[in-house]
Amino acid sequence: MKLDKASQSALLKLSEVDLEIGHIKQEIIKSIESKDLVDLRAKQSELAGELIAARTVVENLQSAQLRADDDLHLVEERIAKDKDRLLQTSSPKDAQGLQSEIESLQRRKSDLEDAELELLAEIENAQAVLTEVSSRKEQNSKELDELQQEIQTTIDDLKTRGRKLTADREILVAKVSEEVLKKYSALSARQVAVGQIENRSCTACRMGLTANVIDSINDLVEDELGICPECQAFIVR
Ligand SMILES: [Zn+2]
Repeated sequence: MKLDKASQSALLKLSEVDLEIGHIKQEIIKSIESKDLVDLRAKQSELAGELIAARTVVENLQSAQLRADDDLHLVEERIAKDKDRLLQTSSPKDAQGLQSEIESLQRRKSDLEDAELELLAEIENAQAVLTEVSSRKEQNSKELDELQQEIQTTIDDLKTRGRKLTADREILVAKVSEEVLKKYSALSARQVAVGQIENRSCTACRMGLTANVIDSINDLVEDELGICPECQAFIVR
């Protein structure tokens, strides 16, 4: 296949540019699919769940404490009422009944107070857990934001390089004949499409070439493109 010397250089450069564009695309995908990012996102939703659970525990304990408080007030009111009635009654039988009810209410009051103290301690613990989970979630969220920012910067840089290379590519493509470009496109879809002979090897496939092959490529007229017998890539001299 014929291509003048200047266009052969453009073809070689085009192949290098395309390989770099391919590399940039892979880097962008790798950045988007970063394992650290996936891990931090998973951790974030796990912590969101933990936070809801910890908040629910605190709220349930606070409701229980309010109920215990109400119960305690009722018992206290009842005791006060019984004491008033005790002062007013003249019947020893009624007095005895009231006395015994007051004693039983006092025991109930004491139990409720103990239970409320226990609830207060549990609320304190649950609030400490909530604070701890909330701070871990905040820290994770900060790390996630930083990593996302970092990845975005990397991707922006890669895209800028990609745009520059795409512009370079347009200039190079214009220098290569339609016929060569067609074969180049088919080749570059599956392999390195253009190579040179370096250290008696094809730079496209890295295979060693025989002296005969090298001689026959070197003997081609200047505007004839060589072909690697191993990988079928164009060989530019
Ligand atoms: Zn080759």
